[in-house]
Amino acid sequence: MQQRRTAHAQSQLTNGKARGGRLPKYLLSGLLKCALCGSSFIISGVGRYACNGHISRGSSVCTNSVRVAKKLVDDRCLAALREELLTPDAVEQIIRKTTRLIAARNRERQPEREHLQRPLTKVETEIMNIMSAIKAGILTVSTKAELEQAEAERDEGRQAGNITPARTGALPCTGPEF
Ligand SMILES: [Zn+2]
Repeated sequence: MQQRRTAHAQSQLTNGKARGGRLPKYLLSGLLKCALCGSSFIISGVGRYACNGHISRGSSVCTNSVRVAKKLVDDRCLAALREELLTPDAVEQIIRKTTRLIAARNRERQPEREHLQRPLTKVETEIMNIMSAIKAGILTVSTKAELEQAEAERDEGRQAGNITPARTGALPCTGPEF
């Protein structure tokens, strides 16, 4: 009798996913199947799984009347998952693969950013040079025009790339007047 009960209680884990895109209410909802009729095991009563075929359509459809404690099934399944899937090797592999994927994704995005960043850096350097010239007292009409031109280019570049301005710490603060 005990053996028969055990056989009946034995449910299969399937690859099925909970349908409808919503998170299942219980850990193994939709995953446990009756070994006799293939119906899903559902929560029946307080904290117990039972065959849906037996519960809703009676013994003529499925004779599996076993009701298993939800906690027992959940604990056993989680233990098996931990032991067989989450080995240190497996975890390390997952971390390595994730790191590779993130790096590859960053590389894909990099050229676009560099393409926009390079001319902007150049024009920002130009501005800094002109500012230095002004501070050094070399302020002429042409210096001022150059500065305005460079600043306009910089703003255009920033808008195109939507790049935030370099932190003020990057600007040279050589003189006490700054
Ligand atoms: Zn059944």
